[in-house]
Amino acid sequence: MSSKPYSTTRRGFLLEGAGLAAALALDAPAQQPGRPAPWYRHAYRWGQTNITEKDPVRYDIAWWRSFWKRTEVQAVIVNAGGIVAYYPSKFPLHHRAEFLNGRDLFGELTKAAHDDGIFVMARMDSNRTAEDFFQAHPDWFARNRNGEPYRAADKYITCINSPYYDEYLPGVLREIWERSRPDGFTDNSWAGMGRESICYCANCAGKFRAKTNMDLPRAANWDDGAYRKWILWNYERRTEVWELNNRTTQGVGGPDCVWSGMMSGSVSGLARSFRDLREVAHRAGIMMLDHQRRDDDTGFQQNGETGKRVHSVMGWDKLAPESMAMYQSGPGYYRVASKPAAEARMWMIAGIAGGIQPWWHYIAAYHEDRRMYDTPEPVMRWCKANESILVNREPVASVGVLWSQRNTDFFGREDAGDRVDAPYTGFMHALVRARIPYVPIHVDDLAAAAGKLSLLVLPNIGALSERQCESIRVFARNGGSVFATGASSRYDEWGDPRPDFGLADLFSVHATAPAGRLSNAQQGGGGRRGGAAPEVHTYLRLSPELRGSIDGPKAGDEPAAAGARRHAVLQGFDRTDILPYGGTLQELKVDAGAVVPLTFVPPFPTYPPETSWMRQPTTSIPGLVLSEKGRSRVAYMPADIDRRYAREHLPDHGDLLANVARWAAGGSIPLVVEGPGVIDCHLYRQGARLILHLVNLTNAATWRAPMEDFIPVGPIRVTVTAPAGTQPSTTARLAVSGTMAAVRRNGSAAEFSVPSIRDHEVVVLG
Ligand SMILES: [Zn+2]
Repeated sequence: MSSKPYSTTRRGFLLEGAGLAAALALDAPAQQPGRPAPWYRHAYRWGQTNITEKDPVRYDIAWWRSFWKRTEVQAVIVNAGGIVAYYPSKFPLHHRAEFLNGRDLFGELTKAAHDDGIFVMARMDSNRTAEDFFQAHPDWFARNRNGEPYRAADKYITCINSPYYDEYLPGVLREIWERSRPDGFTDNSWAGMGRESICYCANCAGKFRAKTNMDLPRAANWDDGAYRKWILWNYERRTEVWELNNRTTQGVGGPDCVWSGMMSGSVSGLARSFRDLREVAHRAGIMMLDHQRRDDDTGFQQNGETGKRVHSVMGWDKLAPESMAMYQSGPGYYRVASKPAAEARMWMIAGIAGGIQPWWHYIAAYHEDRRMYDTPEPVMRWCKANESILVNREPVASVGVLWSQRNTDFFGREDAGDRVDAPYTGFMHALVRARIPYVPIHVDDLAAAAGKLSLLVLPNIGALSERQCESIRVFARNGGSVFATGASSRYDEWGDPRPDFGLADLFSVHATAPAGRLSNAQQGGGGRRGGAAPEVHTYLRLSPELRGSIDGPKAGDEPAAAGARRHAVLQGFDRTDILPYGGTLQELKVDAGAVVPLTFVPPFPTYPPETSWMRQPTTSIPGLVLSEKGRSRVAYMPADIDRRYAREHLPDHGDLLANVARWAAGGSIPLVVEGPGVIDCHLYRQGARLILHLVNLTNAATWRAPMEDFIPVGPIRVTVTAPAGTQPSTTARLAVSGTMAAVRRNGSAAEFSVPSIRDHEVVVLG
């Protein structure tokens, strides 16, 4: 392994300078000098009782006021209109809640909240109507190719290009404000019908032709120019609706009366509904996240990831409250039963660590399972007591993980879960497990963020434009390191294959066979596709060029001896010459000077066991290619270890990803956390102090919801390197356990020990 003599000075450079948030929030509206910060910049704790149609006859407002107080909420989300109106609307077809009986429940709740000093966001849910509305305005509704209306159960789905959005909804928004003066608006399903259904109504046909001079695409076909334009046209329309709704609410309610439609925490989910996270982030004063629970196999850390991702595109000075289900939701969906308390609590804690503002969420205003009322209170009260350390801070991380919604669309296509999400998730898991702090970086924000980062990870980012490739090259030319996997840069921004990797020069590899065309069902690119079938297995061979014999072990041929000569990225694998792989790889041409520490072992049978021997123990097909160019270290990993780690959770795969990341990052990683367990670490800088979240995910249910209890871990030894130009702290306050830790200064680092972590600890240094 080569040394990295520049790492200290480089890190010094990386951590200095203007704030990442300021650098990234390029288009965010600037706050007017002399004008106080708008309400939505200091509403840190949220609550939502999602009203059912039955609730108007049983809503105990006095009880909920006491609950607001107990849980220290500063803002509530109250159902107003859309599919169901909770006030006597002047619009005759605005469907009243079945049991409303003329009551103005929305108005009463808004007044109660305002009397208690609590802000109100009026909640809309506005993409479908009852049949009477459809009969009155049949031209406002989405239609399939046969001209039949799209339906969801007994409701009719409105077309986003119709006057329903341009005229009717603005009227409803104005009416709601004029009656009750909510502080802002949100909408549960503002983006209309998703990608899976093409609308052929007259509004869509006419507007699409006017914009593109083309007919609407006949089917979902990513290789069809009309479909590609239809995708982009749909994104533009959602952004237009966002702006229209804000003009409407701010026009009637003043500049602070923002409209902020809800956003998913999943980029694939956003892509399917044409909600562009980065475009929205540039327009939103506050991001309302509807991301209520973890998926079974992506862990709680996905909530910390969501917080970091959202803030990385909208700035760390804005708030991102997130709806957090207190009812049981997946696996197993029970709207009026309590979510196991530990599961709900850990979801809140994991999100808070990523910069998310907690927002408890109940379905219905009356519950027979009252246990769910006990869950949020302690978390919310802790957040209030520690409010100052949870906001107005920026991450300290030298590793950035690249993402792009365009890649999700045009490389992911109908298989984004496998092509895009799984590789990203694999890196997330590997970095969290290795306790390496990282930040998500949108590809188009790379130039602004580059000065903070020493390593950029490209998790199978197949679709990159020439300009995006160049921004990655510039990052490397300026001394940044790159760790890319799979089909990264093999396709252009439309998902069309390039003759070679767009970043072949950077990766030091060249394709020897054409990349497959991306279809809806298969990937094809760069030898990346597919695993070995279950009846065969494949492997990666370690450092074959350094071994005396690779046909089989010889007496006295102790792998550990050879291990001493192996590359640093193979650290910890001294006792093995192979690693399980499972995928398939193709030949690549490797540039002179590059190192290939892993090569492919082709498939051989798994069954019957008598046949399970390597037919071809060695090949020259690379599984990992390393090169150094100036200060920049570049790792290109053709093998889809990232995706496999997300799917199979083999520790070898996590260790390999972490090893390569550490090698490429040099000495720039500012945090070392030692001790047992799975701990999600988030490090922030806030003025002169550092704030470290240690989220203890060690649990029988780390990978299988729901979590039932907490398993304390400790002691945990922590070393934090002070950012350049600052002295390491001499104090460490543990904001959860309420104690101080003794700090030992070691050069530029502060070392301390956390005796035990139950669910989380937050350490304040300085
Ligand atoms: Zn339409």
